[in-house]
Amino acid sequence: MIEEGTTVLPGDKVAVSEELKAGKSTYEENGEIIAAVVGKFRVNREEMSAEVEPLSSTPLLLHIGDTAIGEVKQVTEAMVILKIIHIAGKHRQVAGERDAAIHISNVSDEFVESLKGKYRIGDILRGKIIRVEPAIQMSTRGKEFGVIKAYCTNCRSPLVKKGEILECPSCGRVEERKIADDYGAGDLDRVI
Ligand SMILES: [Zn+2]
Repeated sequence: MIEEGTTVLPGDKVAVSEELKAGKSTYEENGEIIAAVVGKFRVNREEMSAEVEPLSSTPLLLHIGDTAIGEVKQVTEAMVILKIIHIAGKHRQVAGERDAAIHISNVSDEFVESLKGKYRIGDILRGKIIRVEPAIQMSTRGKEFGVIKAYCTNCRSPLVKKGEILECPSCGRVEERKIADDYGAGDLDRVI
């Protein structure tokens, strides 16, 4: 079982079924209890179940310079469109549906010719907010920024980092991304 109060992402393993049963916003898969939403891990001791409590719903304003966590919704020729799900270090929920865009020129310090192989739909990434009006723009330049969790495009299992690439522990598929230096650590509150 992971530590209570830890911020978790969908697909994160929080406990095993011998310890706790699945409860609010968790589900069981192959003897493991998995988080279904973004939130804080809690143990319901009356029911001995694992729960994920959504972050508080107080509206949160976004500012230039904030470190943000987003889920990729769409990848076009020149842009990545994502939904902002969390602001690092601020334990409140982002107000409403907030979409942000990352232009291809802001993906990496290196020249990016194609977004294919950098980001894919469903990836969870860390970026910095560089503009809020008229639309939210983010950057993932720098080694601390990029994908912190990605799922296999073949079988949806969370991918595991092997050197500079990502590998699927279930089906063996190998994928490329613009990976953050702490990929897999699940640290949603690292402020950079
Ligand atoms: Zn796979």
